[in-house]
This record gives sequence, structure tokens and C-alpha cells, in this order.
Amino acid sequence: MESSLPETTFDYIIAGQGLAGSLLSYYLEMAGKTALVIDPGLFPTSSRIAAGIVHPVTGRRIVKSWRADELIPFAEQAYRLLEQKFRKTFYFNRPILEIFHSVNHMNDWLARSGEDSMQHYTGERIESNGIAGINMPLGGMIVRGGGHLLIVSSLKPCGLAWQKSTACWRKLLIII
Ligand SMILES: Cc1cc2nc3c(=O)[nH]c(=O)nc-3n(C[C@H](O)[C@H](O)[C@H](O)COP(=O)(O)OP(=O)(O)OC[C@H]3O[C@@H](n4cnc5c(N)ncnc54)[C@H](O)[C@@H]3O)c2cc1C
Repeated sequence: MESSLPETTFDYIIAGQGLAGSLLSYYLEMAGKTALVIDPGLFPTSSRIAAGIVHPVTGRRIVKSWRADELIPFAEQAYRLLEQKFRKTFYFNRPILEIFHSVNHMNDWLARSGEDSMQHYTGERIESNGIAGINMPLGGMIVRGGGHLLIVSSLKPCGLAWQKSTACWRKLLIII
């Protein structure tokens, strides 16, 4: 421990200021609770190196991401609230190009795209020469409903805000 703890009391202590800790502390603040966010500020962490792609369809079996219909709109709403608070834009709705890497992959996608539960997420099929500069001999498919989060840009102002409010303790590493 590098210095003594603040003498204030907090309703909650959150270990880690990644995406989870950041959003949890924000929602606690909105609920009128106080939280001490503790993070050693080390690099790398998952949140700081992640691509930030919000993809509604995942895995080899091409299934809808867990509770995507509910959680992706919730995530977007959460990031928009943070954007308003910090006056920065972090989240961008983006179409995602899924490149077919094998005939099986292509057939699986084409079969899935016909399913009712996937209608909201599957867009048009792209032919092999459909996008200049992208090598995709089997073509691909546009996936809708996802996006891109600039994670570091969203975490930084959260951390700075907590430091200002002395509710962030960056140097303390809790050994669990
Ligand atoms: C290379 C890579 C790419 C990824 N790309 C994507 C993507 O495109 N889309 C996607 O949805 N997901 C992606 N992920 C997954 C995503 O990054 C993680 O699911 C998410 O960041 C996890 O957030 P978290 O807050 O739970 O954990 P973390 O980001 O790991 O945050 C945990 C925090 O806790 C702190 N900590 C650890 N131990 C202690 C301790 N003892 N005391 C105090 N603090 C502690 C750490 O310093 C860290 O800041 C990717 C992951 C990686 C590694």
C-alpha cells in the first residue's frame, strides 16, 4: 500500500476499474450510493487492450450473443449516458463484415440468416469482389445491430472523475 486510505466511508468498494467496475460504479452513483474504486493502474488489462467490438453473433456455431436483444440496447444506452456525462463520444453503431472463411462457414451463415431470431442482425450478403481491397474469395455477410466502443476513451474520463472526487484509489493492489 503506497499511502493511507481516505477517511471517508463508502457504501461499496469496487476492485478494478475495467469496463465492469466503471459501469458498476456509475450505476451505483446514479442510485445515490458511494463507491471507492480501487485499481492498481497496471497495463495491460482486458479492457485497455480489447478491440471494443460489440458483436451480436458469436462463436463457431454462429449463435446470437447471450441476451443480445436485451443487453446490446442496454449497453448502448449506458454508453450514451456516459457520453453525456463526459461530453465525449465513445460508442458507434457499426455494421460488421463477417468474412466467410470456408464453404461450411458460408453455409452456416446463410442457414442462420434465414432464422427468425437472427432477422434483426443479418444484413445483405457481400460477393467476393464486393468491397475493393478486401480479399474474401467466398464473400461475406453484413451483421447489423452491433457497434464499436472506444474503450480507453470511455475508461479514462471515468478514472479522472473518480480521482477528482477522491473516490478512486489507483495505487492500491488488493491481494485476494
Ligand atoms: C485482446 C482482447 C480483445 C478483446 N476484444 C473484445 C471485443 O472486441 N469485444 C468484446 O466484447 N470483448 C473483447 N474482449 C473481452 C473484454 O475486453 C473483457 O470481457 C472486458 O474488458 C472485461 O472487463 P472487466 O472490467 O471485467 O475486466 P478487466 O478489464 O480485466 O478489468 C479488471 C480490472 O481490475 C484490476 N484488478 C485486477 N486485480 C485487482 C486487484 N487485486 N485489486 C484491485 N484491482 C484489480 C485490473 O487492473 C483491471 O483494471 C477482449 C479481450 C482481450 C484480452
